[in-house]
Amino acid sequence: MGKDPAKGDLKGIGASAGVAIGQAYLVDRSRVKVVYQYLLDENQLEPEKDRFKAAVDKAEVQLHQIIEEIPVEIQDHAGILDAHRLILRDRMIYDQTLENIQTEQINAEWALKKAVEKAEEIFSKIKDEYIRNRIKDVADVSERILRNLTGTEVEKLSDIQGQVIVVAHDLSPADTTQMRLNNVLGFVTDMGGKTSHTAIIAQSLEIPAVVGLEHITQEVRSGDLIIVDGSDGRVVLNPDPETLAFFQQKKKKYVEYRTKMDQESHLPAETLDGIPIKTRANIEFLEEISAVLAHGAEGIGLFRTEFLYLSQKELPSEQTLFENFRQVARIMAPHPVTIRTLDIGGDKFASHLDLAEEMNPALGLRAIRFCLKEVDIFKRQLRAILRASSEGNLKILFPMISGIDEVFQTKTILKEVKEDLEREGIPFDRQIPIGIMIEIPSAVAMADMLAKEVDFFSIGTNDLIQYALAIDRVNEHVAHMYQPLHPAILRLIRQTIEAGHRAGIPVAMCGEMAGEPLYIPILLGLGLDELSMNPISIPRVKRIIRMTSYKAAKEFSDQVFALNTTEEINEYVRREMVQWFADSFKSDGTMLY
Ligand code: PEP
Ligand code: MG
Repeated sequence: MGKDPAKGDLKGIGASAGVAIGQAYLVDRSRVKVVYQYLLDENQLEPEKDRFKAAVDKAEVQLHQIIEEIPVEIQDHAGILDAHRLILRDRMIYDQTLENIQTEQINAEWALKKAVEKAEEIFSKIKDEYIRNRIKDVADVSERILRNLTGTEVEKLSDIQGQVIVVAHDLSPADTTQMRLNNVLGFVTDMGGKTSHTAIIAQSLEIPAVVGLEHITQEVRSGDLIIVDGSDGRVVLNPDPETLAFFQQKKKKYVEYRTKMDQESHLPAETLDGIPIKTRANIEFLEEISAVLAHGAEGIGLFRTEFLYLSQKELPSEQTLFENFRQVARIMAPHPVTIRTLDIGGDKFASHLDLAEEMNPALGLRAIRFCLKEVDIFKRQLRAILRASSEGNLKILFPMISGIDEVFQTKTILKEVKEDLEREGIPFDRQIPIGIMIEIPSAVAMADMLAKEVDFFSIGTNDLIQYALAIDRVNEHVAHMYQPLHPAILRLIRQTIEAGHRAGIPVAMCGEMAGEPLYIPILLGLGLDELSMNPISIPRVKRIIRMTSYKAAKEFSDQVFALNTTEEINEYVRREMVQWFADSFKSDGTMLY
């Protein structure tokens, strides 16, 4: 990532697709650079704690003001700032800073810095990229407190005039929500990755963004003409007329493509020869529902409930869980919502659950194994799901099933919970469908038997690939071997679908593979009934489905099954797909836009 002087071109991470051309507006958002450190006398400790508390109080008032002034287009993102208000008083930051002042006899700035470093260390161990990156929120909040402690003022972003491309070292959610976003043509930042808030907000507003450029703030001056190509992660400064013309054309084509896709995203996903494919969304939080609706999802195919347990200090109460599930059920009705029971452990852990350190957490006490051991926690969640089931169209999905005994045990517990509710006269859907994730190879081997015990299957390719190929899904050293089109994976998927269909139950897929446009015709050809994915992927996937006939997809997947090696398959699929959908893919098989 650096400057190519020949082209005045910089490469970063494309965080939100599309092309923007306009004048740069450079935001000075450098962090407080120097944090003074000094030791205190005993009698200075209480006043120092009060000084810290006052800085936190001030930050709370500031955030409150920003929330009050949020423009309507991004009201949905007020949740991020509410989360920031909670972080202000979080044990990890608030209590820890006060404790550091007391025990180490140090000033508030230093004590806060230490608390943040400790939090960073804890977060860095989290394998889920999204959650790990939420340490950014902690950093933003502590930066605000630090500014209040040091009396450093910040520039007001609500003052931006005219339509500009915002260039910044980094942007916090408070920064982005303060901007009048119809004045922002694009975002460009030194910091950030695909799951940073700048990226998330830019995506939901469909504003082109390139992040992770490292030094862009040192290269750009306010007023420079700048091109942001969020699809390719490129930024061009002061382009020559030829380059400008090229990107104007690219922008026009992108807008045409996007308009068409958005218009179509609310049409049902049906193949050219009339086979309907349920196209649903994966979510972790209630806040994602607006994106789910906006992108034309026909329900929720995977609600990863563990995030309700990870985001707070205590175990959520039955009532909290119930309210969450009921809200999703009501909003999505009559579409179904598949609630997956707690998949904690592995790379997702919660400190209050007191999970033992394990040598191989992915192979350890995770998901259904944890729930079958901690039956009270499991029952509390099942009660909440069942209670909510009377107010919408809910299904229950059990993760990490490795064999039939776990299904029997799980069904026994579910039956006990149902009987309790029955006795208490609490209404619930007696016919609530139950399904299992097929994500362990042993479950594929047992699929014919398992299919007789449940109402549906959902294939979790993220784990299935990990366990079948013995490739840790979060280890970058073996990431190149994590191959969804490995012939063994395709065979496991086919075997699962065939077993499900022989028993007359539908088969869904909710791993990342289901949201990858390149793989869609193969998955259709194999006969999947439902695809569930990140909401943003839905319009693209639906479009591919509508442009494919089941018959052609079947022939295509037969061709793929005749090939031996992953490399041959990858190459064949890329070549055919680029030809088949010339308006969607680049020659390397990535999406054109
Ligand atoms: C999967 O394993 O494919 C899946 C969808 O579940 P998770 O990514 O939450 O493990
Ligand atoms: Mg999984």
